[in-house]
Parts: sequence; C-alpha cells; structure tokens
Amino acid sequence: MKNTFYTCPYCNEEYGDPVDLAHCILSFEEKKKIEEEKKRQEELELTRKAREEEIEAVEKKLNGLIRAYLKDYGSYHTTREFKEAQVPYLFHWYF
Ligand SMILES: [Zn+2]
Repeated sequence: MKNTFYTCPYCNEEYGDPVDLAHCILSFEEKKKIEEEKKRQEELELTRKAREEEIEAVEKKLNGLIRAYLKDYGSYHTTREFKEAQVPYLFHWYF
C-alpha cells in the first residue's frame, strides 16, 4: 500500500493524515488573521488624531450654525435620525 503524504503549504511538514494537515493549516491561518488584525489596528492608530480633528472641526461648524439659528428663531427641532450612527451620538454644545 502506497503511503500518501500531504505537505503543509505553510511549514512544509508532511502529514499522513489529512485531518492533521488541516489542523496545521488552520493554526497558521489563525496566526495570519491575528497578525493582519494587529496591522490594521496599528494603521488605524496612525490616522486617529487627524480623524478626531476632522470631527471636531465639523462639530464646531455645526454648533456655530445651530447657535446662530437659535439666536434668530429661538428653538431648533429635528426629527432626522442618524441612520449611519447606530452608536449613541454625543454632541458638545457651546452656548
Ligand atoms: Zn504546517
């Protein structure tokens, strides 16, 4: 009977049992996924400050518009929903 060996593409280890091969491949792919997520977080960290400043600039502009509106019309009501913002949204009002 011919011995069949399966070679792992990640570590070149040879396995007689395809289930062992699958376990080896999965362990490498899991490590790869963790590395990719770590890299993604590092890249996000590089743009965090700039994106916060971008939000603050728009927030200040919005506050200015609403403050001017309130001065002229007394009250401001909106029924608009922030559909993209499913997380609680916090405004800082500068009155
Ligand atoms: Zn392997």
